[in-house]
Amino acid sequence: MIKTDTNFNLLNSHITTLIKKDIYLNRIIEKCPTCDSKHYIKYGFFNGIQRYKCKECGKTFSIVSNSLWSYSKKESTQWVKFTEYVLERKSLRFCAEKLEISLVTAFYWRHKVLHGLNYDSVPEKLSGDVHIAKKLIPENFKGSKNITIQVRHNIWVVAAKSGENSIIVKPISRCHWHLPSFNKKIYYLIDEKAYIVPYGDRYISLVAKAHNKKRTKEVQKDKIIWSFQIILEKWLKKYHGVASKYLEKYLALFILYITKKEMNYIEIFKKLSLGSNFLKIMNISMFNTQSISILL
Ligand SMILES: [Zn+2]
Repeated sequence: MIKTDTNFNLLNSHITTLIKKDIYLNRIIEKCPTCDSKHYIKYGFFNGIQRYKCKECGKTFSIVSNSLWSYSKKESTQWVKFTEYVLERKSLRFCAEKLEISLVTAFYWRHKVLHGLNYDSVPEKLSGDVHIAKKLIPENFKGSKNITIQVRHNIWVVAAKSGENSIIVKPISRCHWHLPSFNKKIYYLIDEKAYIVPYGDRYISLVAKAHNKKRTKEVQKDKIIWSFQIILEKWLKKYHGVASKYLEKYLALFILYITKKEMNYIEIFKKLSLGSNFLKIMNISMFNTQSISILL
């Protein structure tokens, strides 16, 4: 007797495997995820996915290991949908309800996606005319326990843009302008021959003056940088306040939002999955204490 699969369970599980295979087809494994050794051998297939065995530590792994979604028990169709929701900036509650996952899972997944985005949101170089603006964002301690700090300072967020799609937006410092962190986070990307166009901040103007030397020229204002403060403020409002410790990650999504009008979810999803962006849940809070210490 042929069993009828009324709920399409079988079909769904096949789709999951197919998506997984397709996504990871072009992923290149460079080293053992456990011990970083480059000596490993092919070690059969599991669910149609190539496995490897490390000759140094003896651990087995696959092309899926250490990617954004490694070890997740959920279906890959759910991850694709979820990535789409994050890019559409749906609320966690919405994601949880639609995908039938818990709010906690939704929270961690959003961090995974943002972490992946943050990973490759930095342009290679900023050249030509480089437009720079800043925005001060009041510190936000949402979700933090044992907060004893009474005074809220501002976080300096700086945006630098050249051409159509080369843009970087990073939190630079807390409370005061801090030139060394500006140099470390943004200035190193700016080409020596580039012309810096500052927007209404005296520190950025000083940077421009030093960089441009004696050069002056008429440059058409960049629409995005010109209204950067307003755009970012509006954009952040939708999240009802972003905890400062997570700000940098959200800004990676903000960059996508302001540069690419049409987003190809599958492409972004693939890109996220192909990198070695795996973020252990236990490392999420740790990761963020590290990123906040960069801010302090
Ligand atoms: Zn190994």
